[in-house]
Amino acid sequence: MHDGVAAYVLGVLDDEEHEAFERHLDTCERCQAELIELAELPEELDELKNAPSASSGDDPPMSMSR
Ligand SMILES: [Zn+2]
Repeated sequence: MHDGVAAYVLGVLDDEEHEAFERHLDTCERCQAELIELAELPEELDELKNAPSASSGDDPPMSMSR
């Protein structure tokens, strides 16, 4: 059952498996921790893509032009 975390994150479980896994997740700290770890990866990748200069001062978002 613990193997379902990656499939759950990827959204490839069918409805029945999805529900069953969520029920399991409710009671399984191991899968909750794994889910958080897996769920953070795509978010971090997105942040890198969407905010390439977030930490650099080259182009401040608060422009004086308006
Ligand atoms: Zn589990």
